[in-house]
Amino acid sequence: MPEKNRLSRRSSLKGFGLLGATALLGCPAETVASAASLAPEPPTDARKQIFSRVRETTFIDTHEHLCEERDRLGGDGPDDWSLVLAGYLGSDLVAAGMPRDSFGKFYSKGPSPSEKWKLLEPYWPAVKNTGYGQAARISIRELYGVDDLSAATVEQVQAGYEGLRRPGFYRHVLCEIGKIESCQVNSSNPPFIESAQPTLLMQDISIVGMFAGPNLKAFGDPTGRNVSSLADWHGVIDWWFAKYGQYAVAAKSQDAYRRNIDYEPTPAETAEPVFKKKLEQQSVSADEQKALEDHLFWYAVSKATENRLPVKLHTGYYAGDNRMPLARLLHNAGSACDLCRAAPETPFLFMHICYPYYEELISVAKQYTNACVDMCWAWIINPLAAKDFLKKYLVTAPANKIVTFGGDYRNVEQVVGHALIARQGIALALSELVEEGWLSIDDALALVDPIMHGNARRIFRLKEKEKAIEGAPWA
Ligand SMILES: [Zn+2]
Repeated sequence: MPEKNRLSRRSSLKGFGLLGATALLGCPAETVASAASLAPEPPTDARKQIFSRVRETTFIDTHEHLCEERDRLGGDGPDDWSLVLAGYLGSDLVAAGMPRDSFGKFYSKGPSPSEKWKLLEPYWPAVKNTGYGQAARISIRELYGVDDLSAATVEQVQAGYEGLRRPGFYRHVLCEIGKIESCQVNSSNPPFIESAQPTLLMQDISIVGMFAGPNLKAFGDPTGRNVSSLADWHGVIDWWFAKYGQYAVAAKSQDAYRRNIDYEPTPAETAEPVFKKKLEQQSVSADEQKALEDHLFWYAVSKATENRLPVKLHTGYYAGDNRMPLARLLHNAGSACDLCRAAPETPFLFMHICYPYYEELISVAKQYTNACVDMCWAWIINPLAAKDFLKKYLVTAPANKIVTFGGDYRNVEQVVGHALIARQGIALALSELVEEGWLSIDDALALVDPIMHGNARRIFRLKEKEKAIEGAPWA
């Protein structure tokens, strides 16, 4: 192969996932010839244009749990290559049968890279091809130049990990390698982080503890307010929005891990006696607890809406293992309709495509003006379902209400693999829509900017937020 072609071939492969090579290089000649006679655009040509556009386009990353860079540099927790495999992939390992004590050791501080590999090795073949496994492998390849994990490569992966994790690596990994403009970080405790990199790590206000429980300590204590009535607790919620509302990009709740999102508008008079009982540490019934939470949910949502903050809600699949009640998740999309109807002025972002009930979520976005969808996390839960979701969404619901990427990770290295899987899925979805004759190549290309960053910039008013954040006391 001539050097020029080899280079362009290599650089076109770079930037896409493990499967990207086949997709991008197109089909064998005979397939192209027959497909070209059926489709308005030759597949390889459409793919080339779309993949190239998607590769060059920046993401707004609408959902992460990234800790501050200083915490990665100076923390006393585990600090080795296993962090690149931490979180979601650990759940796949347990589901594959890894014993809890091996799991604990693998993610602990202490064991050498080869000792850790021995713990991982029996389960690695079972998980290396899941979305979680592929994301980890792509990160390792892109960041450390190692194609796959093995006894022979773990030391090299560890050396790569240490070489990269230096002051300034957040910006390098996210912006230069991941082509990400900014992230939206969700921290539950504290509910808002005064970041040292505030325009790169933009923040949601976590509202979950304002109503679930509520969490008197984590949300009440920092305000320094005395809480002896429901009105006092409203004052606590007001305090958070007054302090951080102008700097936050959204309000966020992952309460769907605990109950359905069927929050019914409930008056203060119904919630007040229950709140009193809670303050006096008396027991309350399940119905009373629901009434209190429902009331406080809507109070927090009304504050978010006053502050022009969209409300992000977890829907669908659960992180972790051996605990997800699928029967409850089944009701998330139906309840999402009720929320949209109850608060037409509040933009809701339903996260994670409500996996596995994603058809239902498309119908919610098609019907309700204030229903938006956030594909965060979806690309690694099930890459093919996410691609399928995006294809169907784009020919069903308005294209201005979808945001397509959030890594949903704690460690910045992990975002790289997820972002490349998302780019591959977006490029494939658009290419297939063109090849199947649903979209013209021009229509497909025109969707790239809005779904990768334009919609997010508008929905979260990022220009305005950036200005406000630059003037924040901690900026
Ligand atoms: Zn999350």
